[in-house]
Amino acid sequence: MTPPREEGPRTACCICGNDNASTFLEVSGKSIVRCRACGLVYTADFHQADTLYAGEYFTGPGRYVERDDTFRSLFEPLVEKIRRIKPCGTFLDVGTGVGVLMEVASGKGFAVKGVEVSNWASAYAREKKGLDVVSGRIEDAGFGDASFDVIVLNHVLEHVEAPKFLLAEIRRILKDDGLLVIGVPNAGSLMGALLGARWASWRPDEHIWHFTPATLLTLVKAGGFDVIRWEAKDNSHVTGWGAKDLAQRVINAISVMANKAEAMLLFARKGKRVTT
Ligand SMILES: [Zn+2]
Repeated sequence: MTPPREEGPRTACCICGNDNASTFLEVSGKSIVRCRACGLVYTADFHQADTLYAGEYFTGPGRYVERDDTFRSLFEPLVEKIRRIKPCGTFLDVGTGVGVLMEVASGKGFAVKGVEVSNWASAYAREKKGLDVVSGRIEDAGFGDASFDVIVLNHVLEHVEAPKFLLAEIRRILKDDGLLVIGVPNAGSLMGALLGARWASWRPDEHIWHFTPATLLTLVKAGGFDVIRWEAKDNSHVTGWGAKDLAQRVINAISVMANKAEAMLLFARKGKRVTT
């Protein structure tokens, strides 16, 4: 099976295939639209620059290599949540980046593998950290059926051209009692509504799909998964106590309570069937 690779501007919704969308927002000269049929918000005419995931993406100021420790402190609690459902076993990190989640999961006893489209990042994870990372797309990795107990897509699905294809491949390589974990930004968040085009997670050069809880659920269910746990996560890591920090803390607390946090995390198991 090969994934659909579209030529030219992207116009169709990845959930229902409809190309009838209304204007939603303009961000940095890029048009973000909303599918009239299912409500999915997406970047119209998305075009990914060939060099997007080159070294600079990971090594630039404030980027992944520099913030290794920050990500480690975020991934520790994530892996603990996973362990409460799956205490050990084989673990695949899709979209490994520079390998921090793999290191944390490995440190907690999982047998970890990764797959990463960026040649730069996958080479870094292999050479600097000794991790087992395949360069390329998941379908290039040749994983066998029912190979993994846990598969994680942490802030990856919004970047992927063909999410339904990816979920189908994940369903094939996940064990029948395996666990799928997906984290994505929440386009229905309170901060998104308050900041409009200034919200940091639109990133129309990188993010194709802007999921809300409803559209993510539709996609995951259609892909043949049953959601077993759902979490609103705030994305703004506030450390200070100044006036601005306090305002952000209040917004975060309200957002989480209202299920309108800036990011969402879901845990799912294989369901009975895939809807096409
Ligand atoms: Zn749609």
